[in-house]
Order: sequence, then C-alpha cells, then structure tokens
Amino acid sequence: MAQHPRHRHTPAYYEERRLQALERARKWRLDNPKRYKELNRVCGQRWYKENKDQVCRETRARYLRLKKIVVRKYGGRCACCGVSELVFLAVDHVNNDGAKMRKEKVHGHGVALYHWLIRRGFPKDFQILCHNCNWAKAHGGCPHARPTL
Ligand SMILES: [Zn+2]
Ligand SMILES: [Zn+2]
Repeated sequence: MAQHPRHRHTPAYYEERRLQALERARKWRLDNPKRYKELNRVCGQRWYKENKDQVCRETRARYLRLKKIVVRKYGGRCACCGVSELVFLAVDHVNNDGAKMRKEKVHGHGVALYHWLIRRGFPKDFQILCHNCNWAKAHGGCPHARPTL
C-alpha cells in the first residue's frame, strides 16, 4: 500500500497565513490599544531584565565618563586632602547651601548633577572632595583642616 504523503503546504500558503496573522495582530492592536500598551510595557520589562547586565554596564560607563569630565574640571583631586582616585571623589557644594541648591533646583547627585554642572559651565561654588573629607566636613569639619597637635 502506497504511503500517503504527509500533508504539505506550498510556500505561498505559508506566506498567506503569515499575512493573515499580521493583519489579525494589527486589528487586535487597534481594538485593544490599552492591552497593547500594557503588553508593550511588560515586554519592555522583560527586555530590560534580559539585558540588565548590558544596560547596567552602559549606565555605569556613562556615569564614569561624566564623572571624569566633572572631576577633571574641578581640579581632579580632593580639595581637602588631595586624593585623586576617582572612586573616592564626589562633588561637594562649597558652602553646603542646601536651601540655595534647592532653589536653583540642583539635582541630587550622580549623572543628573554632573549634567547640571556641565550645563551651567561648572559653577565656582562646587568643589571635589573625597568621601572621607566630604563626610567629615558635614559632621563638624574635616580633621585635615584642623591644626595638627
Ligand atoms: Zn579628601
Ligand atoms: Zn580632609
């Protein structure tokens, strides 16, 4: 008995099916704009999760690039103790004028602050301090600035 060949479709058939599916998807999108938006959002999150490492690397690279620009512009080292290791350094508002900073809408820190400083042409009332000196300055003054015993 001759074996019946498995049912097969021509490429044109598959192409037709593909177009139909696309058309159905297009109609569905038009009929369900909210759901489509939601799906897009969820897919975006999935994309973010799957690419998180890369996104993090890129974010970090951008952060470091900006930080280098800003730190260099302000002398490249801690204004108090002279430490020049980038990871130890942070932007400091010379007069600790929190009210003025809020009034001028100075953004917290990180990339936003670096952008803010760059846009304003590196205002004079900022400096670079290492985290030690920065913290000490905010808590009664850095020991470096006191006369040695
Ligand atoms: Zn320092
Ligand atoms: Zn210091």
